[in-house]
Formats: sequence, structure tokens, C-alpha cells
Amino acid sequence: MKDKLMIIDPHIHMTSRTTDDYEAMAAAGIVAIIEPSFWLGQPRTQVGSFQDYFSSLVGWEPFRASQFGIKHYCTIGLNSKEANNEALAEQVIELLPLYFHKENVVAIGEIGYDDQTPAEDKYFRMQLDLARELNMTVQVHTPHRDKKAGTIKSMEVCLEHGLDPSNVIIDHNNEETVKEVLDRGFIAAFTIYPKTKMGNERMVEVVRKYGSTNIIVDSSADWGVSDPLAVPKTASLMLSKGISREDVIKTCYQNALDAFGKNGKMKEEHWLGNKGIDQRELFNDNSVLRGQEPKIEGDKIV
Ligand SMILES: [Zn+2]
Repeated sequence: MKDKLMIIDPHIHMTSRTTDDYEAMAAAGIVAIIEPSFWLGQPRTQVGSFQDYFSSLVGWEPFRASQFGIKHYCTIGLNSKEANNEALAEQVIELLPLYFHKENVVAIGEIGYDDQTPAEDKYFRMQLDLARELNMTVQVHTPHRDKKAGTIKSMEVCLEHGLDPSNVIIDHNNEETVKEVLDRGFIAAFTIYPKTKMGNERMVEVVRKYGSTNIIVDSSADWGVSDPLAVPKTASLMLSKGISREDVIKTCYQNALDAFGKNGKMKEEHWLGNKGIDQRELFNDNSVLRGQEPKIEGDKIV
């Protein structure tokens, strides 16, 4: 066990995943995750849906993760798709500051462009101003269509709004965007999807070519076809393909901790000091068990 790597997946939508996923992730070495707020696959129709969703990201979901020995953090923001409903977007922007101070909120995200519409631009800029005022890290979703232009525009707008590029994680990179992102001093995250975009073989070559500084691997696993074990699988593949252990640790653990740990809420001691699992614990009188035998591990055994 001494060789087992600790892994952080800094972009995963656990609300859409199962308890089996949590168990497999913990077994694969994932010690901490970051769940960005995003859309549900269909548009929300009222501000209360956002409110309940944000509340679950700072309440129920961290509890659920803890029941499987994983530390859960999140990012809060108005996602790009739903910025296009301006009447609703205005209300969501008002809501955001109520959540930024919560103990597991490590950044504003995931925000940015989808179709690069004027409304997306307006609310992206508004949230960047909030980030600058509050000195918060930003997690940027780059568009899947017109990727390169959208990525460059995202960075230019961040600079225009006075953000320090080292406080901005540009996500969903590929071989076409990575050089620009690193050259400008931003942090480049890569989403490893099982069938599309970046595969993990390609990720190995990116690290071989660009090194490990300012590069982060994530899964973005959600309700679509995706893999919650993408980060540990990529880490193993990197090691088997001759990438140094040091570079694997940086890209699959340390860089995410450094980038999202800046506001002091995400700390290694949270998982190094993990006292084990006690599935008898409740959150608002609710457990994850559905009548099954609770697992009790580590110091929680008395
Ligand atoms: Zn996402």
C-alpha cells in the first residue's frame, strides 16, 4: 500500500453519480473531489431550483461523500448555458454571495462560454468581477464548439477584468489550446472522457510534451457517458508509460490542491487526518444506508 497514490478529482458532478461510484473512487485512491455547479441537462425554470441545488452542494453531497471516506468541496456559479435566461440569471447572481463563504466552497465555477452569446458574456464578466472583489479562484468551462477561439476569448476577458491568471483554472483543454493557456500563465485542466475529447492516452502525451507545471487532470463525470475513475486510470497509465511519479503526483493531486486551496478551505489535513467512516451518521435525520449494515472504519470504531 505504501506506493498507492493519493488522487484529487477537481471536476466531478457527484450529484449525478451513485454510491458504487463513491466506493470505487475511494478504493482507487481518490481522497478529495471538487464538484462544480453546473446545469442539470435541462434548464431550470426558477431561482429556487438553483438555491436547492447550491444548498445540496454545501450540505447533503459533502455528507454523502464523507460516508465513503472522500472529502467533498464545490465551486458555485451561474453556468454558461443558463446565463442565456436573463430574467433568471439576474436572480441567480444575487444568490451567489450567500454561498461563497460556505466552508467547502473553494472557487467560483464553472463559468464561461457555451455558445458565446452576449448574455453568456455579460454574466461571465459579472462573475469575474465578483471573483476579483472577493479574491476567489475561478474555474472556467471552455466551449466545446469553436474551442480554440472560445478558450482564448475566455482568457482575454479574465485579464480584462483584472484577474491574476494563476488564480484561474481553464478547463476542458486539448492539444490545440494547452500551449496558449500555459504561455499566458493560466492553469490548464484536462477533462478525460471515455470516448470523446481528451482520452487518457492523449493526456499522457500532453504531460510528456508540456511537463507537469500548471497542468491538472479531471474527469468531469456527470449524468452523461463519463468515467468517475478517469483520474486514477490516467495516473496509472502515465506511470506505465514512463511519466515520472513526481509528474503524476503534480497533475493528479498537488496542482489541484495548490490551485483550489488558495482560500484556505481545502487542506491536506482534511484527508490525512481522516478519522475513518461511520455510516451510522445522519444528515438532517437521513443516512445513505437504505437499511444496509453501516460500515464503520478507522478511528470511528469504538
Ligand atoms: Zn462540469
